[in-house]
Amino acid sequence: MSWECPSPTILSFQHEGLNVTRENMYRWIFGNAAFQKHEEFDEFRYEFLISLMLSGALFTAIFVAGEYSEINRIQTPHLVSMQMFTLSALGLWVVLRGRKHLFNKVAWVYEIVCLMEYTSSLWLVPTDELRLMWFFVNIPGVFILLGSGAGWFITGVTVAWLVISNTVMPVPYSGNALATFIVSTVYMAVFFHAYGTRSMSYFMRMRDYNNELERLASHDMLTGVLNARAYYAACDQNIQMASRTGNPYSVLFLDLDHFKAINDTHGHSAGDAVLKAVASCLHQSLRKSDSLGRIGGEEFSVFMPNTALEGAHQLAESLRREIESLSIPVGDENLRITASIGVAVCEDAVEEMHAIQQRADEAMYAAKRLGRNRVSTFDELPKLQTVT
Ligand code: GH3
Ligand code: MG
Ligand code: MG
Repeated sequence: MSWECPSPTILSFQHEGLNVTRENMYRWIFGNAAFQKHEEFDEFRYEFLISLMLSGALFTAIFVAGEYSEINRIQTPHLVSMQMFTLSALGLWVVLRGRKHLFNKVAWVYEIVCLMEYTSSLWLVPTDELRLMWFFVNIPGVFILLGSGAGWFITGVTVAWLVISNTVMPVPYSGNALATFIVSTVYMAVFFHAYGTRSMSYFMRMRDYNNELERLASHDMLTGVLNARAYYAACDQNIQMASRTGNPYSVLFLDLDHFKAINDTHGHSAGDAVLKAVASCLHQSLRKSDSLGRIGGEEFSVFMPNTALEGAHQLAESLRREIESLSIPVGDENLRITASIGVAVCEDAVEEMHAIQQRADEAMYAAKRLGRNRVSTFDELPKLQTVT
């Protein structure tokens, strides 16, 4: 048996073939709930609820074990209620584990189970003067897990329930004790309402700022498509995926023809309008799974997963035609533009992005040499070069 730490982030416990990493333990407790990046608050609440249910089940089970080992005697009706609470908490954990969409339902059911268990100790354990504490510590949990509306609702129910219960309990609390409890419970609700709403709005703003920063860092300001860095990162990911599946992939390299002349004749802003129109035309014509990046001034690249030579060539040809048919309004004029497109395909062996991009580059320059406004494929280069 040995403990080892293979990396600073993964703690590993090995015993005769059993490999317990921190990730495995996490997956065992929380299941595969797969939260998206923007769901981090939901993820926190999901983990918090599961932790509460498991720790609730554990502590109640310890009390129950105390009764069986005669360390701490518990009256039979309360013992039954504690056993039911433990089983309910464990059952709800099994139901919620890996099913994030059930969070709200499970959170409400667990809250009702908790209130029943606290009521059981309120009525059945009169020797414990501090049993009101359970109702008190319950309030923050509701505000955190279910929000302010639910928090205030449960606060109201708790206060009303205690006032009613106090009239029928065999040993009631004094008026002073009850008033202290009610005022402190309402205080607790006010604190968590104020803190919860404030930190929630701060969290939302931070998340929006982060999303905006991420968008600015990964997208080209002018055209809105991916910038070179983000585009190549997306391609690398796609290539990794393709290396696992063995599917072919293709890259198109597209350079606008005589673009400088547009800037020189109509001004830089006219050139910008042309770039935007071309990017939007490309964006609309591509599949969701394709990636589009602006990798230079008037140069775009397209990565197409699961695409072999014929499909890539067809798409390049249809993009070329669509760009050719664009009529871009600038001032009183409608500008026209064409593009030369190079195609490179990776069908058998896995090829790094820079290598396949270089082949698409060469194919694009062959298209330029052949007179522009055309598509050329890297595979055809020897043939094309003899034509020129
Ligand atoms: P070719 O057909 O050989 O590709 O000729 P070209 O004129 O398109 O090629 P060249 O590389 O000479 O010109 C590219 C021009 O693109 C030069 C540069 O001023 C312009 N450019 C680069 N980035 C931008 C931009 O963001 N906006 C505008 N309006 N022009 C840009
Ligand atoms: Mg260029
Ligand atoms: Mg050009």
